Amino acid sequence: MTYQHYIHGEWVDGHGTETFESENPATGESLGEFHRGTEADVREATAAADEAFEAWRDLSHIDRAEYLWDIYHELKERHRELGEVVTKECGKEISEGKADVTEAWHMVEWAAGDARHPKGDVVPSEIPSKDAYMRRKPRGVVGCITPWNFPVAIPFWHMAVSLVEGNTAVWKPAEQTPWCGQIIAEMFEESGIPDGVFNMVQGFGDAGAAIVDDDHVDTVLFTGSAEVGHEIASEVASDPGKLAACEMGGKNGIVITEQADLDIAVHSAVMSSFKTTGQRCVSSERLIVHEDVYDEFKERFVEVAEKVAVGDPLDDSTFMGPAIEAEHIEKIRKYNDLAREEGVNVLVDRTELDDEEIPEGHEDGHWVGPFVYEADPDANLRCTQEEVFGPHVALLEYSGDIERAVDIHNDTPYGLAGAVISEDYRQINYYRDHAEVGLAYGNLPCIGAEVQLPFGGVKKSGNGYPSAREVIEAVTERTAWTLNNSKDIEMAQGLSADIKTEDG
Ligand code: ADP
Repeated sequence: MTYQHYIHGEWVDGHGTETFESENPATGESLGEFHRGTEADVREATAAADEAFEAWRDLSHIDRAEYLWDIYHELKERHRELGEVVTKECGKEISEGKADVTEAWHMVEWAAGDARHPKGDVVPSEIPSKDAYMRRKPRGVVGCITPWNFPVAIPFWHMAVSLVEGNTAVWKPAEQTPWCGQIIAEMFEESGIPDGVFNMVQGFGDAGAAIVDDDHVDTVLFTGSAEVGHEIASEVASDPGKLAACEMGGKNGIVITEQADLDIAVHSAVMSSFKTTGQRCVSSERLIVHEDVYDEFKERFVEVAEKVAVGDPLDDSTFMGPAIEAEHIEKIRKYNDLAREEGVNVLVDRTELDDEEIPEGHEDGHWVGPFVYEADPDANLRCTQEEVFGPHVALLEYSGDIERAVDIHNDTPYGLAGAVISEDYRQINYYRDHAEVGLAYGNLPCIGAEVQLPFGGVKKSGNGYPSAREVIEAVTERTAWTLNNSKDIEMAQGLSADIKTEDG
């Protein structure tokens, strides 16, 4: 069977004739065939969402959240099963596949629980007889465009809060992970959410672009690459009344000072660089290490990088699964070659894994291992500046103080995540205050955010925070509401309220 789109409470083939397959990146096997959404399908979905909006916004937050509580329980009950689906479809090792599902129910819990929390603010007025409030209204139809690497969690980052706040949604899952999309849409269907409140169109970038372009869409939430995010942000900026919150990639760094505990440093760096095979937007590709500890850190990091377990992501003993697709392996290879051309000193090169490292039955998977090198932090190299989105890691040695380390750290166009490893609180606090990132960690890996914290970047990494509390800002409008308790009209700032006529 060919899986369908979910529009206005119906499963539909859509208007297109093309289909596409979901492929297990560890084995190359097909996991299912899906209809490829077109602009016409997106138009139908956004019209359905627009039509459903009035009735949905009239429900209370608490009633809207009830639908999400059903999904919360289902995500929990199906933890192992869905974790395996995530692992099979996007190649993350099984603890990461399961963590993706856990993160999804955390986000649903946050959004549905927030339905019972106070909304808006009571604000003082200069005039004692006036009551002033900040109230929120849903913006309308939210278009959600999500990436493959957190195929269950990120859709709920976007949609859980949007829906509880009273918006309706049109969602396009990543083309690499439509199976996860199908399961999430089935959950919404089973929750009994009113027709048109949640809609899903499967497809590629052209369907995403149609969402961005659509007149019914009031807000676009996007998580993905910087190239696409910048395109979306500039397109939306030219459309008054429409807003976009985009969370994009990074070229994230970890500063390891002369005061670092090297056990923590090595552990944090390995987690940050190699978890998810380097394919998190927060993965670290730059390790900025003080000269006093450089040799020892290098030796220990290289030792792990040589041995870190790449293999079947369903096997509990695997640390790194495959890369997502063949084109992505090509991109990683090109950057590894570029690094050589730029004259770096290569320390570990597992770009091509040995045959015996590839598990049996997985020969058609997209395999790549760590690539680690040392480079001059002042050399202005593309390989140390551009996001590879893979296990491609530069060691950048520095001498001097924490100010120098943070200068190197900030010397990229991106600003998503980063960490400092040090036992000196002054160095840690300097990093906290001066690192140009949205997510900063002390003595920890720079991955592994929790849903109740803001998530997003600065510089090229983002212009919004499509997560938890911050999504509320993106998907609601604020009304300053003032009510007069007096029969007289009295104005702030001493403005006269007297009406003067020719007769005096
Ligand atoms: P990644 O590199 O993580 O795959 P992308 O930015 O390519 O990130 O994709 C993230 C999401 O954006 C996917 O759902 C993809 O289909 C969608 N997308 C790709 N190109 C566009 C576009 N031009 N407009 C809107 N969405 C797009």
